[in-house]
Amino acid sequence: MARSKLQIHIHDNSDDALCVSSNGDMISGEISIHMEKNNHSSDLVIMLEGTTTVSLQHEVGVKLQSTQTFLRLSQKTRVDSPATFPFTFVIPSALPTESCSHVVCDPLVRYAHTALPPSLGGKTPCATKNNKTDILTPNAVQIRYCIKATLQACQQDQEPVLSTIREIYIIPTLSSERPPPAFTPAINNSDKPSQLALENHDSPMKAQIVRNIFRRKEGRLVGEILHAGSLTMHLHRQRLTEATIPLRLGYYSASGICPRLHRLTISIRALTIFGLSPSPDISYQTQSHQSSVYTKTLQIATQDMSSITWEAVPCPTIMDPQIEMTYEALVPVSFSLSPDRPFVPTFHSCMVGRSYELEFRVYYQVGRESIFPRRFSITVPLIITMSNR
Ligand SMILES: [Zn+2]
Repeated sequence: MARSKLQIHIHDNSDDALCVSSNGDMISGEISIHMEKNNHSSDLVIMLEGTTTVSLQHEVGVKLQSTQTFLRLSQKTRVDSPATFPFTFVIPSALPTESCSHVVCDPLVRYAHTALPPSLGGKTPCATKNNKTDILTPNAVQIRYCIKATLQACQQDQEPVLSTIREIYIIPTLSSERPPPAFTPAINNSDKPSQLALENHDSPMKAQIVRNIFRRKEGRLVGEILHAGSLTMHLHRQRLTEATIPLRLGYYSASGICPRLHRLTISIRALTIFGLSPSPDISYQTQSHQSSVYTKTLQIATQDMSSITWEAVPCPTIMDPQIEMTYEALVPVSFSLSPDRPFVPTFHSCMVGRSYELEFRVYYQVGRESIFPRRFSITVPLIITMSNR
């Protein structure tokens, strides 16, 4: 005789597939109940649940773990005989306000914390064949959603008769009803809590003194990304997302000779910021000993720069007397993000946040040096959002 079991079937998904959904999507299916013997009626509780789990290793080696259930939608049915029971849930864009009830330093933080966070850690539908796990997220962090079915006796205080769960993968998409909060987190390595970094920050500029092999100053190399405000990329679930960003290089030459440009690499850095208790701000640094940042960098493109030439431009009026000439090179930097990389939208939830940076690394050589090329890099914050197409 077949043993008693509960099974969760989701429409349009085979029973061993990872169901992928977004806010606004309807998840429907059936719970099938096979009972070995059926001698009393029971309650079937079907839930859509979202939980965040964070673990941190304490200095003395003790592992601390914190779990928050931020979403719980449920349906209940009386069951008198084995059968199948339908269920339907609609994935919300926003979490119930009671899911974030801690102190916050700015109302924007509460707004960010009540947005639907993406699934994080564990299995991912966008992973490559060889790697089925989310490589951008540390093992210490998991945000999971599941459909949970529990058959329990009608009398209270009794153990569930049967219980099963089925994981679903949720990737929030951009919704006009609930735009993302207008800030990017500032990563702050000091103990002081950092301010919210508003989106309209200046484009970062990086400058570097260039010296020749005899350590004599040759000039000053300057790089900046010509883009107003934060860079935002709207990723697509099914196809490549391409971007072209202008990089301006300036060279203030003391010798009249420009460095030779070799190549440019573009990398994306995913920062997973997490803490054991809810963060009152966006930087998760308030309780520095109970929070951490995990960084993973992926090189996404490389571009040959050997054909890029410097153009002489008029010298600025206030000038270092050593500077003889000023040169400029404008480099269109192109790259794409593939849907098989596990990039989730930028988000900031109570205990976990994900932000991104783009790093542009320029390799160059000075004079007749035959040693390895030198390099300098420019890092800019990147906001990722997900398109629903
Ligand atoms: Zn919160």
